[in-house]
Amino acid sequence: MMKKPTIAITSLTCCEGCQVAILDLGERFLDLAGDVKIGDWAFLEELTPAEKFENKSRLFDLRKKSKILVALGSCAALGGIAEIKDYQDKEERLRYVYKNFENIQNANVQSLKELVKVDLEIPGCPINKEEFLELTKKLIAVWQTGTLDQMPKILQRPVCYECQLKQNKCLLQEGLPCLGPIMLAGCGAPCPSNNYPCDGCRGPIKNVNPDNLNKQLIKQGYSQREIDLILQRFGVLEETYPLPPIQNKK
Ligand code: SF4
Ligand code: SF4
Ligand code: SF4
Repeated sequence: MMKKPTIAITSLTCCEGCQVAILDLGERFLDLAGDVKIGDWAFLEELTPAEKFENKSRLFDLRKKSKILVALGSCAALGGIAEIKDYQDKEERLRYVYKNFENIQNANVQSLKELVKVDLEIPGCPINKEEFLELTKKLIAVWQTGTLDQMPKILQRPVCYECQLKQNKCLLQEGLPCLGPIMLAGCGAPCPSNNYPCDGCRGPIKNVNPDNLNKQLIKQGYSQREIDLILQRFGVLEETYPLPPIQNKK
């Protein structure tokens, strides 16, 4: 009989929507749980508030104890929606929310890979449960066969690929600011399928050149500021324009 890996699903600073997506697998999650030992699921075990805020030391500890570390969801993989604050005047925001803010630390949001080695990123806000299931099965096989140098990969193709498979009408061609041509597929294109342009929650395809889309959006009447604001929604502005960033974090 194959050995079972022990898995831990731990939540740092986020909304925990990705964990809800996993639970939404229903019986298929229970089947998967039969193939592993659940070592720690903080979401279910309820940490104390103090424990919840020790994010960095928990992450370093997890890395030390784990053969495979996965960044699950856009918060972990890219910074996610919490990163919006880093593009603002942070002191002004603190002043707005708190009466006494002098002693409040307000560090920039960091993705996991900025702090530790990450073996696989599964982006999305929230993650796509089908993609999670498929990749987790592959990860279990990698662990069981000891082939840790052969991590599963997410195919580097754009959201447009999945959007066109669904025969959606193209929102970009209709003048809407859809980022599908440069964003990583795997979500199944739920936004354009529901008549909403892709905001890029999964981040850009590796080494993509965003210039053509950028020029097209400017031609369609969007300002650079408007384009940047869309890219800030899920914290992917820096990943999209790595050289040089159009607008640095404050
Ligand atoms: S990626 Fe989105 S859904 Fe997942 S935890 Fe972060 S905010 Fe929530
Ligand atoms: S709607 Fe967006 S994702 Fe779909 S084909 Fe057009 S640009 Fe691509
Ligand atoms: S279509 Fe775009 S915004 Fe919507 S889930 Fe996919 S990557 Fe995220």
